[in-house]
Amino acid sequence: MQKPNLQQAKKRSNKKVPVINDFVIDDKLLALGLHKKYFIKTYGCQMNEHDSEKIAAMLEKMQFQVASNMEEADVIILNSCSIRENAHNKVFGMIGQLKQLKEKKEDLILVLCGCMPQEEIVVNKILTKYEWLDIVFGTHNIINFPNLLAKCIDERKPQIEVFSKEGEIYESLPVKREYPHKAWVNIMFGCDKFCAYCIVPYTRGKQRSRTRQYILKEIKKLIAGGCWEVTLLGQNVNAYGKDLSENYYFADLLNDIGKLDIARVRFMTNHPWDLNDDIIKAMQQNDNIMPHIHLPLQSGSDRILQKMNRNYTKDEYIKLYFKLKEAIPNICISTDIIVGFPGEEAKDFSETLAVVNKCQFDYAFTFIFSKREGTPAAAMADKTLREEKEARLQKLNKYISAYTLNSNMQFKNTTVRVLVDGFSAKNKAVLTGYSENMKRVNFYGDEQLIGQIVPVKITEVKTWSLFGEIVSTKKG
Ligand code: SF4
Repeated sequence: MQKPNLQQAKKRSNKKVPVINDFVIDDKLLALGLHKKYFIKTYGCQMNEHDSEKIAAMLEKMQFQVASNMEEADVIILNSCSIRENAHNKVFGMIGQLKQLKEKKEDLILVLCGCMPQEEIVVNKILTKYEWLDIVFGTHNIINFPNLLAKCIDERKPQIEVFSKEGEIYESLPVKREYPHKAWVNIMFGCDKFCAYCIVPYTRGKQRSRTRQYILKEIKKLIAGGCWEVTLLGQNVNAYGKDLSENYYFADLLNDIGKLDIARVRFMTNHPWDLNDDIIKAMQQNDNIMPHIHLPLQSGSDRILQKMNRNYTKDEYIKLYFKLKEAIPNICISTDIIVGFPGEEAKDFSETLAVVNKCQFDYAFTFIFSKREGTPAAAMADKTLREEKEARLQKLNKYISAYTLNSNMQFKNTTVRVLVDGFSAKNKAVLTGYSENMKRVNFYGDEQLIGQIVPVKITEVKTWSLFGEIVSTKKG
């Protein structure tokens, strides 16, 4: 058993990051999943979504087949998220529910992976309260999942393996992409920013950028397979390359990817600290870089931003925001905002509202501060009552909804280009996808349009989506 250690996870060194590009699944395990099925439930961010695609590919290499629900699965994997207490609760709730299934189906293997196992309190809780879990592995142990699975089946005893380390780069993991027409591409792993509230630098290790050769090769292969859109992934993509010794940074990467024959390039997520003029210029100069950016504000109070260790002031944020709007006039800018950070007073919250009113974001994700054990913010005095925080969130959300609707209104009666993902979950006659500005667009259409980029005239505007009608079915 290898348990996590947050103190260890916090350490950073100048050691060269190992690049592992010879991953193979042992021949002996290639039939492990014969006549067996798996089900993966993913929580949290795109990084986790993409990790699940890698886990699915490993399982399918061992001949497991995907199950359509948990009941018919022989292996259930919960790929977890640590970012907020709510995410924890959802996962623990699910583990609780799965106990019944495990009792009915003795051979069922329950796996917990992702960020939660990287936390000491989580693993300790599992060991005392959730002993029916069979495998627990961390973000640095994904490469060993096939072996852990085989060992668990073989020895019929739980396997816990969580390394707390700076991490490696895995170049040769298989991936089972959810869509053929759009793909996640990791350009880096980990984070060294240590924002005071955030557990990610502890759960995902130090910043490790992939080299351009591997990234470009992966994207070219995706293009050859018919992919229209790539989303470059990293905890802070703007810092890409700063850990490499190549003098090659995010703007350079954007320019190189921009030259490829791909219709759409997106990236996430960003940090105002590292978003420089070169990046803005690259966005301006490459038509296939989509006019949308997610730029977390977190707070509009300088005092709170400093406590959060965000390393920018509200004025710097506002300046950057309008610089982007000026450079790319049709850009949509979304953001994240935390209310009720320890020590946030009414005055600080008013300052956040003032920034929101000034920027009028195209949309935003808003949250009440969630204490993450082991982070500096967890030890900060927090006297604000929960009810007060909820009232602040409600007030903020009213503004955000109004600005989101306002942003959507600009598209009424215009034609937007939509990359069609599939049918809407709510109505199987309605297709759904995203516009260039990252607005969700729904419209009536045929199945054959899935995976294509089509023009849609917007006829109806709602707060969280647009509705329209197809103008033409011409491809591309
Ligand atoms: S930049 Fe800050 S918020 Fe984002 S992952 Fe790194 S530490 Fe967390």
